[in-house]
Amino acid sequence: MKTLDYYNFFNLTTLLRVDFNVPVDKNFKITDNTRIISIIPTINKILNDGGKIVLISHFGRPKYKLEKKYSFKNIISEIIFFLKKKIIFIEDCIGYKVENIVNNLKNGEIVLLENLRFYKEEQNGDINFCKKLFKIGDIYVNEAFSASHRKHSSTFYLPKLFKKKCIGYLFEKEINGINNILKNGKKPLISIIGGAKVSTKISVIENIINIMDYILIGGGMAYTFIKYNGGNIGSSLLEKNQFLNIKKIFKKLKNSKTKIIFPKDVVASKEFSDNGKKKIYDINNIKKNWQGLDIGPKTIDIFSKYILLSKTILWNGPLGVFELSSFSKGTFSIAKVIAKATKNGAFSLIGGGDSISAIKKIKYEKKFSFISTGGGAMLEMLEGKNLICINSIIN
Ligand code: AMP
Repeated sequence: MKTLDYYNFFNLTTLLRVDFNVPVDKNFKITDNTRIISIIPTINKILNDGGKIVLISHFGRPKYKLEKKYSFKNIISEIIFFLKKKIIFIEDCIGYKVENIVNNLKNGEIVLLENLRFYKEEQNGDINFCKKLFKIGDIYVNEAFSASHRKHSSTFYLPKLFKKKCIGYLFEKEINGINNILKNGKKPLISIIGGAKVSTKISVIENIINIMDYILIGGGMAYTFIKYNGGNIGSSLLEKNQFLNIKKIFKKLKNSKTKIIFPKDVVASKEFSDNGKKKIYDINNIKKNWQGLDIGPKTIDIFSKYILLSKTILWNGPLGVFELSSFSKGTFSIAKVIAKATKNGAFSLIGGGDSISAIKKIKYEKKFSFISTGGGAMLEMLEGKNLICINSIIN
């Protein structure tokens, strides 16, 4: 697969597919700019070569028509601020006006087209829509790793029309980061998997058995495993419909050297808030009406020991309800231990929106080897699947 350095972009108009689907508050202030600032190296390479850039992206989930709240107009000034570049915003993404402006771009100039999802054709995969975008570019660059598990027009069908195409630096880093874990990880390898639901990560767990030496399971998803094994989990999160999948996991583990480690103790409460009484329970003996909302002190100790002896670390999903201060200790402590292991030379990759918000809360963003912006795309790769849009860059 070609990467950015394969090309010289001089005089070329680049259709640069980015993921500007950033979180915003009610006043349209961007609350996390990671996806924007992470593409700066790619923009700089193209501009330094003397190229022109047409940024294309989706933003939110408009219902196939112009919905003001999903317009890039709301956030263009912040995008300009974060990228520190002059950018012309065009209030459409296809058509005569767009073609006219793009055709008159000079080397070094950047435009941002309006939200691709204002057209139903973006999500439906429409060749005519793609042809209209194709018309305005000489070369296609996919820098939207986090949107590349979806077979949409701009990520899957559009690149097929181009002869000149490649992935951007961020995309390359994301793939290398995951391959550093799944294919070239130094032993011992460890994964810490948390979050609310076992259903969203069960395929990841299944795939990384036989790759990892240890899989530590925390967060709300742990309780379904514990219940399956006959423990009393009180009113903790439970997904009974995952029992069959859990059975498969245990079967696979029998013939594997991989060990799954569950929490020993939990911090529980009767209320999902900071106001209720808290108690520490053995994870197998949580009382009726009490729910486990964080890993307990013994578990923090045990998990820390495993993490500190590992050379390759993957973390996805918080170990408790870190949004509530009473149940944040587990997640923050584990983040700090992973940072320590990284400082000692381990490779660490952190993914998943909530784990990233957690480390931002304690200002630890710089203390890991790589923070993935990949979301669902990252999970698909961890499940062992190929990202569908990569095929369109290769072929
Ligand atoms: P996910 O999107 O599956 O990674 O889940 C993230 C969410 O899981 C966060 O908002 C956490 O508050 C929540 N979470 C973590 N541990 C628990 C738990 N023990 N009970 C309920 N929710 C939890």
